[in-house]
Amino acid sequence: MPVPENGHIDPADVKELIDCSGCYVFPGLIDHHVHFSWNTSGITPDLFCLPNGVTAACDAGSIGTNAFENFVRFRILPAITTLQASVNVTTGGMAGAGYMENIDPALYDERAMTYLFDQYRPYLYGFKLRIGKDISEGMGLKPLEESVKLARKFHTRLSLHATCPLEPVPEIVNCLGRGDVLCHTFQAKGPYSILDENGSIYPEVWSARERGVLFDSAQGRIHCSFRVARAAVEQGFLPDVISTDLTTFSVYQERLFSLPVTMARFLALGMSLYDVVRCCTATPAELMGMEEKIGTLRPGAMADVAIMKLETRKFEFQDSYGNHLPAAQLLLPQMTIKAGRCCWRNTAFAAF
Ligand SMILES: [Zn+2]
Repeated sequence: MPVPENGHIDPADVKELIDCSGCYVFPGLIDHHVHFSWNTSGITPDLFCLPNGVTAACDAGSIGTNAFENFVRFRILPAITTLQASVNVTTGGMAGAGYMENIDPALYDERAMTYLFDQYRPYLYGFKLRIGKDISEGMGLKPLEESVKLARKFHTRLSLHATCPLEPVPEIVNCLGRGDVLCHTFQAKGPYSILDENGSIYPEVWSARERGVLFDSAQGRIHCSFRVARAAVEQGFLPDVISTDLTTFSVYQERLFSLPVTMARFLALGMSLYDVVRCCTATPAELMGMEEKIGTLRPGAMADVAIMKLETRKFEFQDSYGNHLPAAQLLLPQMTIKAGRCCWRNTAFAAF
């Protein structure tokens, strides 16, 4: 039912009333960095999204140019959840732990990329590249430079995974331009992070933000050091996006669990609920080019809604670096509405 301009709804048009007292009514959450294919097995998107209030998500380059068409047809299209995906710049994509993709730019298949962008543009979020120990040794920043060139050529963005980086972070972010995304912003594997030796955010990182580079927490099990994240939040360097980086073996497991739990970590790090929710709704919606449709509750949008309770409960998070994070608030999903239809509901949130 279209909502009139003045926002007034005629009671005769109301089909269902949902008592949300004591709850927050958010736009459906968007998980901006997930892996719905890993070790070629993958996980069913709806199963891991809808019960968590997540109604849209982006696969972060699990799949290379060889298998991307299959991924769109058999993973993205059948899902209730609104999905986009980055295509890995390599042909093979991410095969799994211990078997890294070959990021030699000489092997990039531009012809396949052209086909995918012609055929599947609405589902394409951009390109994805991973660099760091075990992936880019001996290659320097060449794969990054070439991937940025490709992104500009295809008028899209590059999302960069740079964990345990082999070069200082300033050199890496200096390669990125407006609209590109640095994933795993708060990683601290190896000698380099976004903090300099005095614990301050590098000036080059601030400059990158000023010219439009985006920073996604993409937590994962091992990609978010509470020490780095806390220092960043204290210095006013908040993430643009908060996401899970979930994979087959991390979803609902310790260190990651789910998007609402990941959001609770950033509440505990000192971010406001408003900022945390924006990082999981309005900002990723804009990055997906869907800000009129998702990540918002305004008239004309898709009517994706996440009803959640903010519960006070004392507990402690621990990261993979041994840091502890005392927390007092947890977001508990109650009901998920996708395109105006209820598609998940906590039994305790029933009307009986
Ligand atoms: Zn990832």
